Amino acid sequence: MTTKPLPEHPDFLWRNPEPRSSYDVVIVGAGGHGLATAYYLAKNHGITSVAVLEKGWLAGGNMARNTTIIRSNYLWDESAAIYEHALKLWEGLPAELDYDFLFSQRGVLNLAHTLQDVREGMRRVGANVLNGVDAQWLGPDEVAEVCPILNVSPRTRYPVLGGTFQPRAGIAKHDHVAWALARRADELGVDLIQGCEVTGFLKDGDRVVGVETNRGRILTGRIGLAAAGHSSLLAQRAGFRLPVQSHPLQALVSELHEPVHPTVVMSNHVHVYVSQAHKGELVMGAGVDAYNGYGQRGSFHVIEQQMAAAVELFPVFARAHVLRTWGGIVDVTPDASPIIGRTPVENLYVNCGWGTGGFKATPAAGWTFAHTIATGEPHPLNAPFALERFTTGALIDEHGAAAVAH
Ligand SMILES: Cc1cc2nc3c(=O)[nH]c(=O)nc-3n(C[C@H](O)[C@H](O)[C@H](O)COP(=O)(O)OP(=O)(O)OC[C@H]3O[C@@H](n4cnc5c(N)ncnc54)[C@H](O)[C@@H]3O)c2cc1C
Repeated sequence: MTTKPLPEHPDFLWRNPEPRSSYDVVIVGAGGHGLATAYYLAKNHGITSVAVLEKGWLAGGNMARNTTIIRSNYLWDESAAIYEHALKLWEGLPAELDYDFLFSQRGVLNLAHTLQDVREGMRRVGANVLNGVDAQWLGPDEVAEVCPILNVSPRTRYPVLGGTFQPRAGIAKHDHVAWALARRADELGVDLIQGCEVTGFLKDGDRVVGVETNRGRILTGRIGLAAAGHSSLLAQRAGFRLPVQSHPLQALVSELHEPVHPTVVMSNHVHVYVSQAHKGELVMGAGVDAYNGYGQRGSFHVIEQQMAAAVELFPVFARAHVLRTWGGIVDVTPDASPIIGRTPVENLYVNCGWGTGGFKATPAAGWTFAHTIATGEPHPLNAPFALERFTTGALIDEHGAAAVAH
């Protein structure tokens, strides 16, 4: 792998060109998914007349607020296929983008604390293996071998009865992933335009022909929405409804520590997951706040519960201190699976509903969304994730594999 790190704030982040009056494709949202879509539109399809419009700054949304967990051990065939495609792309991206964004395949453990957790975990391992996804079922002693600081004593309130383990899963440095994708897209001719909010859509009958923005009108043949958390607002402006709800989702980090935590541990049951960042912070996340909101901040009781759960699983963390907490806005669908595809408005495409787990999907979301926009037809990997499934009933229910566990 070549490793040529970018400077901390690469020049092009500040360039921010004036929008042209028209582009072949406009992408709304410069998070990971918007940037990956622009990169693959240029690289895979040769479409370089592309503008990525971002109302804030590059990757200032969920892309740089997430807890960076990457895995592909979802239950259903459709999910395993798209998330495994993403994981394979992750494995090649540092070399392809010529940037070492610290992708670390340190494995992910999903703990089981009840008989039902054990059944669900074993079923998922079986399904993963049949789909060619690396997955193992570990008993409590094997769990302790993978993560020695985890409390596997049978005397705890929710004893660890075992867990699923995906060795190829792990973490990556999220802001650097965004910069690496943005740099390549920029080199291929894509305009990355910050401080440019899409406020409306220009239509000719049932077809979109452009966008209204705070920096003027931009005409375009095709529009891709990649505005996680804000998708339903944009859909409303375009004249249709999406079955998504926006919720705050929080995370926190501790101060820096020596390396103590060798893998990623998640527990849906006690509602926490923890990894240790390359610099040494313990990175912890929990579930979404129950109410709908756009505030990029959540409730204190969620953080409190998350830390109580972390100390229960890892007694050694009782000595750690919280350095920082923050929140993002995620959009959640009824079946905890994303929507990628056409909309009722011609030439307007949507990529949303990744809920708490879209970082891991970034390359595959971009790959398949770019294909859909370039050809007007879904890629086989995103065809099952069409909006129509909410009327046909062909749902892909990933609550068991998604839930709190990102
Ligand atoms: C605390 C937290 C922890 C998470 N942990 C994980 C994890 O461990 N693993 C995982 O896989 N996923 C995780 N996620 C989920 C993941 O971050 C998201 O699913 C994913 O980042 C969404 O795609 P994105 O990167 O394109 O979104 P974003 O980065 O949010 O990009 C959307 C962009 O659209 C812009 N936008 C919105 N409206 C407009 C408009 N009208 N005009 C122009 N621009 C607009 C926004 O400003 C934003 O920059 C987590 C999320 C949070 C908040």
